[in-house]
Amino acid sequence: MKGFFSRFNNIFFKVFGALSALTLIFALLLGIVFLRLYTTATQRSRQEQLIHVSNQLATRLGDTIIYGNYEEMMQFLEIYNSFESAELWYIPNGNAELSVEDEFLIIDTKIPTEQEEFVEVVRKASEGNQEASVFYSEIHKATAIVVGTPVYGANGSVYGALVSIETLEDLDDAIRSTGRMIFISAVMALLVSGLLAFLFARRITEPVRQMRLMTRDMMDGNYKLKTGISRHDEIGEMARSIDMLSDKLLENEEERKNMEQMRLDFFANVSHELRTPITVVRAYAESLVDGVVTSKEAQEDYYARILRECSNMERLVGDLLTLSKMQNPNFRIEKELVSLTQILEDAVGGVAAIAADKDIEISPSGQFDEPCMVMGDYGRLRQMFMVVFDNALKFSPEGSTIHVDVKCAGGIEVTIRDEGSGIAPEDIPNIFEKFYKSRLLENEKGSGLGLAIAKYICEKHNGTVRVESELGKGSAFTFAFGTVK
Ligand code: ADP
Repeated sequence: MKGFFSRFNNIFFKVFGALSALTLIFALLLGIVFLRLYTTATQRSRQEQLIHVSNQLATRLGDTIIYGNYEEMMQFLEIYNSFESAELWYIPNGNAELSVEDEFLIIDTKIPTEQEEFVEVVRKASEGNQEASVFYSEIHKATAIVVGTPVYGANGSVYGALVSIETLEDLDDAIRSTGRMIFISAVMALLVSGLLAFLFARRITEPVRQMRLMTRDMMDGNYKLKTGISRHDEIGEMARSIDMLSDKLLENEEERKNMEQMRLDFFANVSHELRTPITVVRAYAESLVDGVVTSKEAQEDYYARILRECSNMERLVGDLLTLSKMQNPNFRIEKELVSLTQILEDAVGGVAAIAADKDIEISPSGQFDEPCMVMGDYGRLRQMFMVVFDNALKFSPEGSTIHVDVKCAGGIEVTIRDEGSGIAPEDIPNIFEKFYKSRLLENEKGSGLGLAIAKYICEKHNGTVRVESELGKGSAFTFAFGTVK
């Protein structure tokens, strides 16, 4: 049973049901109201006419009874006869001189004497009251108006009742044909609403079907499809939203794949970076344990190499830890009011020994002497500058200069510019990536994590970092902070 009904539970049948119910109700209401108005108006005017004629006839009938002037009476009866649908009786009260058998009276055998309304009208007229009533005459098989009019004799007494009946067959016919018309128009309305419902439902269901198919595809992970619906209504809006959703999902999917690839690359890089020093340490340690290396100098050299590899590993693991901390979206930097120039000075101090070794001068300019107060983490900001100074020193030739320029009016900008090897334009977009590093000899110890960490630190301070570089001429790293909060 449920299955049977569910077959009709679709948009077509719903629209069809609503439309046809509406048109049927409308047709019925209109028909009923029209019929009622028409019936009452017609009945009233016929009744008035009948009363008017009955009155004239009753007066004449009275005169005829008093004066015996039958000819005049006949004239009136002729007039009355012109009302084809009307019938007439005279019903004496017993004291009447005229009787039912008199020739000039139109006597019809079809007297509805059985019917209550008729009897009542006759009774009232016999008592001297004119009465009209509408009833369904069983004899005529039609609705009829009956009017009973008292006929007065010479002394003003009631002689009898003039009863006139007019059947309303034409009215009944009109009602019947109106009913037929209502029926025909209802059937037509059903057909038209069926057609409209079909067209309307198809306009709605077709795009809905398309969208349903597309969302199914999306569920299966296919985000490349488009609904292809372009309409300026709610369905069009919905289709656009679904298209946008599929775009977004496609984007997310690609991002997820990239992330996954990056994660795999990251693991591969970390393993590779750690494996190399471990292999080296192990080889040296084995040589020492096996007693292969006998001379004291060689042994000391091996120990020194093991130590160097260990500190490299320590630095790498430290960088990895810092990175994983920075990448955590919940990681918050502890900020306090610090002087950026003081941090810069501190960082310069940290690399002073290496600079001296390579005879490189670090030359400050701009507002280096001003405090340039910002809200930030002293240690992290120092680490950030150290990365850039380290690289500048690493890639600069002996005897060159590293320029440190500070601007702290409004926004703050710190530029560290070297006169070193420079970076190839195609490499510039990659230098902030994790594990991206140059294969140059001077970068032997580089892990490729420094600039990635520096960028994270800068961003955690709501800053940006940009680089300008030219191969063979040098590079300039600029850190810009709006207001460091
Ligand atoms: P690392 O220095 O450990 O290799 P970084 O992330 O600090 O890693 O730097 C990534 C790469 O960017 C370097 O290997 C180098 O190729 C390039 N680079 C960074 N700074 C400079 C610079 N001042 N001059 C030339 N190349 C640089």
